[in-house]
Amino acid sequence: MSIQVRYSIIIPMFNEEAVIQETYRRIKKVMGLTGEPYELIFVNDGSTDSCAQMIEEYSYWDESVKLIDLSRNFGHQIAITAGMDYALGDAVVIIDADLQDPPELIPQMIAEWKRGYHVVYAKRIKRNGESLFKKWTASLFYRVLRYSTDISIPVDTGDFRLMDRRVCEELKRLPEKNRFVRGLVSWVGFRQKALEYEREERLAGETKYPLGRMLKLSVDGITSFSYKPLKLAGVLGALLSASGFLYLLYVLYLALFTDAAVKGWASMIGITLTFNGFVLLMLGILGEYVGRIYDESKGRPLYIVQEFHSGRPQQSAPEQRVSRLNP
Ligand code: UDP
Ligand code: MG
Repeated sequence: MSIQVRYSIIIPMFNEEAVIQETYRRIKKVMGLTGEPYELIFVNDGSTDSCAQMIEEYSYWDESVKLIDLSRNFGHQIAITAGMDYALGDAVVIIDADLQDPPELIPQMIAEWKRGYHVVYAKRIKRNGESLFKKWTASLFYRVLRYSTDISIPVDTGDFRLMDRRVCEELKRLPEKNRFVRGLVSWVGFRQKALEYEREERLAGETKYPLGRMLKLSVDGITSFSYKPLKLAGVLGALLSASGFLYLLYVLYLALFTDAAVKGWASMIGITLTFNGFVLLMLGILGEYVGRIYDESKGRPLYIVQEFHSGRPQQSAPEQRVSRLNP
């Protein structure tokens, strides 16, 4: 029998030894003030530094601390998912390990939850200490996402949020591999509420989301919730063939009524390059979708846990998530 847990805090970490002690201290302080039982679920996403050992040690004397040690780096979104699979609380909070999301906001989230909201997400009204490039690309991404998807995913909102147990259970039923968790949370619906906050500077260490990973997350976000990029091919194709037809009329006119027909080298090259570029772009977009279908069809588990540490020895680890395609 498991002990009743009211709140589960999920903290994904990837090489966060420089901050994790302070993170633990601050979250602990905030959660202590709630006066209700809670668990801190640290998910070690294949770190190569000592952050996992530190948390493992904490788990020996602090029974609220649990450590899910993944067998390698599976990525932030999968780490969060692993945390949700293990969470026992009536409300589940996801928070970054680098203290960019202030734990002091959690009591406000809890208050809104108690007022009846199922999801309370934190919306960034300001981002401190991040490069202009990061702010600009992030802002662009949220706007493209808003334009291209049919469900409304709130802009400027990361994964820092509180979810009711019911929302968490619904999310656990979604088996997709290339996960964009905040989109999935919007997809499941329920009563949602935004809390505004200023995003802090990273306490220490480097971002674990370099440009390549940000791009992957953006493409996951867009392709998981929209076919619009595929439709782009149809629209552009129609426009291009209409203009091609008009140009053909002009070429016919030149060939039939003038002697200027061989002069067209530059326009030939121009059209060839444009069209080839366009075809390759569309092939690339198709490839993104086909690749994702391939990922789903393999039916691999989302992640592998190599060890689970819990301050409560009587609690056994839940069944590991297996593919929904081969139950
Ligand atoms: N993270 C993770 N696995 C990864 C990359 C990041 O678990 O592969 C964690 C990281 O430790 C942090 C959170 O995800 O707790 C957000 O990452 P980060 O702060 O580097 O992203 P940023 O805030 O710069 O977008
Ligand atoms: Mg960060």
